[in-house]
Amino acid sequence: MSGINAETKLLGVIGNPVNHSLSPIIFNKAFQACGLNLCYSAFNIQSNDLEAGLQGMVALGFLGFNVTLPFKEAVLPLLDSIHRDAKMAGAVNTVVIKEGRLCGYNTDGSGFVDSLDERGIKTTGKNILLIGAGGAAKAVAVSLALQGVQSIVIANRTLSRAEELSYKVASIGVNSWAAPTEDIKREDFLKTFDIVVNATPIGMKSLDEPLLLPVQNLSPGTVVCDLIYRTNGTRLLREASKRGFTAVDGSGMLLHQGALAFQLFTGQKPPLQVMRKALSVALCQSM
Ligand code: NAP
Repeated sequence: MSGINAETKLLGVIGNPVNHSLSPIIFNKAFQACGLNLCYSAFNIQSNDLEAGLQGMVALGFLGFNVTLPFKEAVLPLLDSIHRDAKMAGAVNTVVIKEGRLCGYNTDGSGFVDSLDERGIKTTGKNILLIGAGGAAKAVAVSLALQGVQSIVIANRTLSRAEELSYKVASIGVNSWAAPTEDIKREDFLKTFDIVVNATPIGMKSLDEPLLLPVQNLSPGTVVCDLIYRTNGTRLLREASKRGFTAVDGSGMLLHQGALAFQLFTGQKPPLQVMRKALSVALCQSM
């Protein structure tokens, strides 16, 4: 793209706040690399303006938009169609506008699975411990269940939310049950998992936060994932690496959910290496 002109089509991310979003940098680099006359921006909107904002994007011929906190659930009733994964997760992070119709998708969970896949980590048949039952945990749980994992145990501070999510996973046909967060401190409990995923914000603030779980109690070969992305890692991931476990941070999920959204918006294969580089530069600059 040589520059914005009268032919440029628009896209963006809506949320509140969104001024920290790395999406405009990543998407605009990707559009440029593919020679697409598209421009992606960030729109901070108020809850009261959500419906008007969506109608405005349709009226202005936007190709689509991403959705971040706190609107991932709130947009659902405003859409014309919702894809299976998003419906099951109860949240939408990508909306494609086709002939004036708003079509919702959720690429967060598939982005997580793709981030493991590219590192050669298979999820099929594996026993998963998922810590957290919020929006990200729901998307990840649904995608893992649809991949055909063996089981997903959900540990969450509010047990009723873990129970709710485990019913959803079980309805997909995967063994699932809820556990109180005290269980994740127990050695016999932790030994039973192949992949452990932190889907809470614990560890986001600093490396001095209390360790989420006693990493020494995990079985050898366990893969430790944290959905948090920080350039210098989290305490959980650092501890896991130090003890020889494979540690996976959330930047891969962020990259792949964006790559899947790119494909939905443009119908083209995403320029993954361009997006990866843009993300890595943006992450360093945001620290
Ligand atoms: P959310 O919907 O607000 O859910 C937060 C979850 O964490 C809930 O299960 C909550 O438990 C739990 N939690 C929060 N504070 C806690 C605490 N102090 N102690 C114990 N549990 C606590 O948030 P989300 O959107 O799912 O995001 C969760 C994490 O994933 C964040 O760190 C976010 O940055 C990350 N994330 C990463 C990506 C990516 O692309 N890598 C994408 C989305 C999110 P209760 O149910 O008890 O409140």
